[in-house]
Amino acid sequence: MPHLQILHDVFGYQAFRGPQQAIVEHVIAGGDALVLMPTGGGKSLCYQVPAIARQQAGLGATLVISPLIALMHDQVGALHEAGVSAAFLNSTLSSDEAYQIEQQLLRGEITLLYAAPERVSNARFLALLDSLFERGKLSLFAIDEAHCVSQWGHDFRPDYRNLTVLHERYPGVPRIALTATADDLTRADILERLQLEEARAFVSSFDRPNIRYTIVEKKDSTAQLLRFIEREHEGEAGIVYCQSRKKVEDMAQTLVDAGIKALPYHAGLDSKVRQLNQDRFLREDGIVMVATIAFGMGIDKPDVRFVAHRDMPKNIEGYYQETGRAGRDGLPADAWMAYGLQDVVNQRRMIDESPASEEFKQVMRGKLDALLGLAEATDCRRVRLLGYFGEKSQPCGNCDNCLNPPEVWDGTDAARKLLSTIYRIQQMSGVSFGAGHLMDIVRGKTTEKVTQYSHESLSTFGIGKDFTELQLRGVLRQLIAMGAVAVDAQAFNTLQLTAESRAVLKGEVAVMLRESVSAPADRKPRRNARLGAVVKAPINLDSEGLLRYSALKAWRAEVAQQHNLPAYVIFHDATLAAIAQRAPQSIDDLQGISGIGAKKLEAYADDVLKVVALQ
Ligand code: ADP
Ligand code: ZN
Repeated sequence: MPHLQILHDVFGYQAFRGPQQAIVEHVIAGGDALVLMPTGGGKSLCYQVPAIARQQAGLGATLVISPLIALMHDQVGALHEAGVSAAFLNSTLSSDEAYQIEQQLLRGEITLLYAAPERVSNARFLALLDSLFERGKLSLFAIDEAHCVSQWGHDFRPDYRNLTVLHERYPGVPRIALTATADDLTRADILERLQLEEARAFVSSFDRPNIRYTIVEKKDSTAQLLRFIEREHEGEAGIVYCQSRKKVEDMAQTLVDAGIKALPYHAGLDSKVRQLNQDRFLREDGIVMVATIAFGMGIDKPDVRFVAHRDMPKNIEGYYQETGRAGRDGLPADAWMAYGLQDVVNQRRMIDESPASEEFKQVMRGKLDALLGLAEATDCRRVRLLGYFGEKSQPCGNCDNCLNPPEVWDGTDAARKLLSTIYRIQQMSGVSFGAGHLMDIVRGKTTEKVTQYSHESLSTFGIGKDFTELQLRGVLRQLIAMGAVAVDAQAFNTLQLTAESRAVLKGEVAVMLRESVSAPADRKPRRNARLGAVVKAPINLDSEGLLRYSALKAWRAEVAQQHNLPAYVIFHDATLAAIAQRAPQSIDDLQGISGIGAKKLEAYADDVLKVVALQ
């Protein structure tokens, strides 16, 4: 079985994860594939193993389409570390360097070639592919971050639309498209736009069990966030998302003032500064990147210990994609978000004021409401998140609501008042109305519109006077989130009853709302007496083990710097921790530790043994 051997020898892993094996076998056999797998699920291996296997079988090179030029250097570097021949072609190369790579490619010396989607419209690049194809040396197309083809995501890249050239011009060359975006709209878009209707789809569970979800109501979000980082993630790498450039700058400064190694990242920064900050985040330990959503796609740093949203994102897809950047190494990580009414108002306004079509805006509003439903949920966050992506699950025990069940107030009465009013309006006027008008009627406000439709004559006019508009909106959002009220996106967001409304109206289902969130208990990081600093290892190590771990990390930092690569490309934390635990004395003792392939064993075993022996 060549693919198992590749997994073991090249990558140093013992077994495929989840659907990886099925995908790899399908692609090696020449099938097209669409892979939907969450961030950290292990998408890269799904095309890297087939690329190596097909190259070994004499079928030639794999072209990897990747949207981010800034990350190609590290992606290719990681393959070199594993002993795989890889290269990239992009605008950072001199024409001489590019020529060298083209020649190597034509000589069959390159297994994986990375390029950005815009290359595919470049005549010289196509000529290169032509000549490989004519000799039967074009083995596979891997289209990474395939959701960039869809206008529904925030990563839309028009150049992805041109990728259909690949299979039109090179028929018979298999294609594998990969994404961590799971919603149906995007998925359908990928299939259609990339003409992958015939491809076999591999859909993984989107659960990320090692990520703990916490959503808090904003009180003083800067102070809340600072407390969260200081209490739970001292000295660890993380990402903080803010809504605007200004907030990014302010937040980064606040963190720096508090003694946290934080850097800003947003589209308004000079591109050199941006690149530098990104490199530092990837290469140095324990940096907190404060960023707008411009940051993060393609970042494969495995030891990001938290992702925090200081402001609410646009929708669940964005939230899930961004939080997914935490804990790719499978070790415990946090997803923390603060939300408040102002976020809702801002997001609404951004949608309303955008130049998009009304249809597009309606879809966006619906998505925002779903995220609000998640924020206000009193039950398991994970069940809701996964439910949004069509996956059923049981309460997880690893989210704020599972760990500290929130206090709730009973909004059932308010819910029934809202529902019966929606029903009566529909009965009386034969048409539906939106949330604003509904609130006015229930709260007994005589507006122009109320008078125009004589809605003050409804028997439910003013029955909700005792509730604040805020409470009623909370209840309504909850009803929408439960599916007991439908928002008609085709008809100006008007509200309608659904099959689920009945149970609420009849009092069979309670509508519970979050009252306030109790603060989590203090968790103080462990200080190591002999090291005099906080040392957190991914597994439990005794103090000798921690010393070895620290020494190994220091050694790794040096190697990474010499190779101009992020530390995790040399070895993951988990690999170093496993070495520290085993305290190896010979090369044999290093066998079987996950993450040490043949090339790395050869390159680093002596050093590692020395570092361990010196402790
Ligand atoms: P994705 O691209 O889906 O976000 P990656 O391909 O970056 O995920 O993989 C996430 C992490 O999991 C990487 O650090 C990778 O080395 C590791 N990984 C992937 N597959 C395996 C496996 N079969 N065994 C052990 N580790 C794996
Ligand atoms: Zn839960």
